[in-house]
Amino acid sequence: MRIVHLSTEFAPIAKAGGLGEVIVGLSRELTNLGQTVEIILPKYKFIHLSSMKKDLDFECEEKKIFHKNTMWEATTEDCKLLLLETSHPSHYFSREHIYGYPDDILRFLYFAKASLQYLQNKKEPIDILHLHDWPVAIAAVLVKEMFQIPIKAVLLTIHNAAYQGLCAAHDLDAIGLHGSQYLTKEKLQDDSPNYSHLMNLLKGGIVYSDAVNTVSPSYAKEILQEAPFQHSLHITLNKYKNKISGILNGIDQKLWDPKSDPYLIKHYSSKNSITSILKAKQEAKQTLNQQFNIQENNLPWIGAVTRIVYQKNPKLIEEGLRYAIQKGCNFLLLGSSPDPSIQNHYNHLKQEFEQNPKALLHFAYDEALAHQIYAALDFLFIPSVYEPCGLSQLIAMRYGTIPIARSTGGLKDTVFDNEDASTPANSRNGFSFQHSNTQEMQNTLDRAIHFYTQETTSYQSMVSRIIKLNFSWQKPAKEYLRLYQTMVQL
Ligand code: ADP
Repeated sequence: MRIVHLSTEFAPIAKAGGLGEVIVGLSRELTNLGQTVEIILPKYKFIHLSSMKKDLDFECEEKKIFHKNTMWEATTEDCKLLLLETSHPSHYFSREHIYGYPDDILRFLYFAKASLQYLQNKKEPIDILHLHDWPVAIAAVLVKEMFQIPIKAVLLTIHNAAYQGLCAAHDLDAIGLHGSQYLTKEKLQDDSPNYSHLMNLLKGGIVYSDAVNTVSPSYAKEILQEAPFQHSLHITLNKYKNKISGILNGIDQKLWDPKSDPYLIKHYSSKNSITSILKAKQEAKQTLNQQFNIQENNLPWIGAVTRIVYQKNPKLIEEGLRYAIQKGCNFLLLGSSPDPSIQNHYNHLKQEFEQNPKALLHFAYDEALAHQIYAALDFLFIPSVYEPCGLSQLIAMRYGTIPIARSTGGLKDTVFDNEDASTPANSRNGFSFQHSNTQEMQNTLDRAIHFYTQETTSYQSMVSRIIKLNFSWQKPAKEYLRLYQTMVQL
């Protein structure tokens, strides 16, 4: 099959969160399964072809395509990346970051349309056009309404239904669609009565794609329920629920591997004895001790590597941090917030804990530190309000770190509580709580701390078990392939 992804992220060269990792992991595995995979990505200012060649072994060559746009072809053994560079006067991709600009809607509408123009010029038959999230959802509409491209079927993956791309009807005029004609319930009009004057790009993707999937089975069910952070999208999702399924994400085993992780001083793997694994984790702690003056501690190191946004439950992250430290544990938080009021609040929290050697609050996006923290922690704390899949709990387990999670979405599908009688004992891999409340969260932290300090043998056998778990892309990629196959046969 020939599969073309349209994506705004690709790890590690353009990553804002889980999406970038999903694209790279899924593409590599589909290639391993014998499929032809291409990924079209904006060529952001911070992507340097020379370092891609040097560090990632990409062969890069330039293909001029049309006025204002250049497509760069970057190929490795694993996949083919097509990087769209534009000299549009608005400098759409010459920015420091991937998202967060007032013209994001126009930037990504432009990207989607230019990518399709490229595919149309190329005239090569495509089995699946695979779209990811609201920024490229409009491509499903354009394929049906504007372009003649030999594409058999279009799949939209919703990595996060809370981000929907609301815009004015006239924004679509910029890419040559008559916006006002699409402002209807059947097409792109937002489902919420408060926003009926606006277009919803994610809704357009759901309506016009041949199939839609989300990134875990539980989240695929949860998005059908009304929830404030999803606005009214459940209305469209229910209307099209027969074309919606859930496929759990994997993690890229090359990007996340304590056996060869370039950021770790001491490597380890599931093949080592538990004593060696814990010793290597101890060394990872020492590295951080030296770097940040964190206290040595016989009580567990708990922490989080996360964007600090509503989805991730900033209130419970703070309460968890305070409670863990009150109990004598260490707590390490790596992450920052794009929301100034949340970030401001956390800046005060950092000041409060500045002199406390048990706490580290580090507000940056730092890939190297993330790897070191996953290795050093004993428990990763993920109290999310909702979680489409969540990669951090999967990464943590690969590094022998036990997840403590709120049971929602992908966390519900991957974290099984140590005391959950409905799960076989050897499948229990962490601690979880149902409701987003302080008491349940604190009880769960208490249970985890007790497990670590008082039930050493069980704790060690859980570490040995989770580090062996296979969260690779092998299984999910086969599920995607099956979905693609059913789609082209329809
Ligand atoms: P989401 O995509 O909702 O942000 P996921 O758990 O699916 O959450 O994926 C988050 C990814 O981003 C993980 O690989 C995590 O390690 C990484 N990450 C989050 N915050 C940071 C940070 N501050 N520095 C480095 N990596 C981070």
